[in-house]
Amino acid sequence: MRFLHPEEPRRDDGNETVPFLDLKAQYRAIEAEVFPAVRNVLEKGCYILGDEVAAFEKEFATYQGAEHGIGVNSGTSSLHLALLAAGVGPGDEVITVSCTFVATVAAIIYSGARPVLVDVNPLTLTIDPSAIEKALTRKTKAIIPVHLHGHPADMDPILEIGKRHNLVIIEDACQAHGAEYKGRRVGSIGTFGCFSFYPGKNLGAYGEGGMVVTNDASAAEMIRKFRDWGTKTKYHHELKGYNYRMEGIQGAILRVKLRHLEQWTEARRKHAARYHKLLDGLNLTLPVETPSSRHVYHIYAIQVAQREKVQSLLTERGIQTGIHYPVPVHLQPAYYDLGYKLGNLPNTEAAAASLLSLPMFPELTARQQDRVVEVLKDCCGNRPQEGILSMMEQSSLVSD
Ligand SMILES: *Cc1c(COP(=O)(O)O)cnc(C)c1O
Repeated sequence: MRFLHPEEPRRDDGNETVPFLDLKAQYRAIEAEVFPAVRNVLEKGCYILGDEVAAFEKEFATYQGAEHGIGVNSGTSSLHLALLAAGVGPGDEVITVSCTFVATVAAIIYSGARPVLVDVNPLTLTIDPSAIEKALTRKTKAIIPVHLHGHPADMDPILEIGKRHNLVIIEDACQAHGAEYKGRRVGSIGTFGCFSFYPGKNLGAYGEGGMVVTNDASAAEMIRKFRDWGTKTKYHHELKGYNYRMEGIQGAILRVKLRHLEQWTEARRKHAARYHKLLDGLNLTLPVETPSSRHVYHIYAIQVAQREKVQSLLTERGIQTGIHYPVPVHLQPAYYDLGYKLGNLPNTEAAAASLLSLPMFPELTARQQDRVVEVLKDCCGNRPQEGILSMMEQSSLVSD
């Protein structure tokens, strides 16, 4: 997908296009801070790990409320290493959701364990604790709740199940930097918290990056070895490790960006509140934020009937949207061998058919947001018989 820049020429109809995401707007705002940070790394010659990564690990772990942070080269690597440090391997089962980005499930497969996919709460789109209970077997070793779109999973019942069955809880917080559950930052609630710094995430590098946070000192030590070929001292391999190291330049950039994260998150929350207010009463379902949560709106996803039609009407009129995600993992051809079929996870499947992500990024302007709302109102209308879609529907009924 090409992300249109707001400065690009106006469309023929005189309206500006609204991008789904505008990473360049954010870069322009912090360029003066980023440049010296990058130059410093280049001049010091510390390109892999090093001081900047070590400082970022401390700062980010503290921000998430954890004692240790281990910087890696992606969110996927952080999940993989958390699983290995939890002792998960062949013969084990790990319970997670299908309503997620594919990496959650892929990391379980990398560890050699079998992913067991369960359904989500239809309102929050996070793992349904009662579904976890039903999926437990003697082989279950860990649970990976995903804080999807930036809304925390309901951690208390998950922790309780974990305690009762001696399971490791690994939070997939790749979309949830700064999110809170009952006043606690996600990532430090379970034994491990896994984060991604992919450029489009709420805290994004200018390249790849990820981190595991934990309060378990010996697990942290193990992950530190795993990410760097199983070594503590160069060329002495204590574990069969990986090349999952974070780059110095990314560490330096992420330190700069972390200083802005709270302000960016508050901007996202303000935009979400405004969408809520302006879209209230239309023929669509708005995302929820439970009272015990701080949602960080990595994604602002509405649910609509005839999603493909709504999306193409929006696209025609210059509003870029996304779908997170159109096909749940259990129905992806690559994972047919897990043995699931259509109908197995009804809430997940219904969400995949109706989710539509609206433009959401800290720099989104009120004018851009008004434009999104205006076009959505034209598409969906206030009442069932209103809006372009229902008119199309009625005319097709007539012509059929
Ligand atoms: C982005 C993401 C990942 C993977 O992170 P990468 O840095 O792209 O490897 C894992 N889980 C979820 C839920 C994600 O959104």
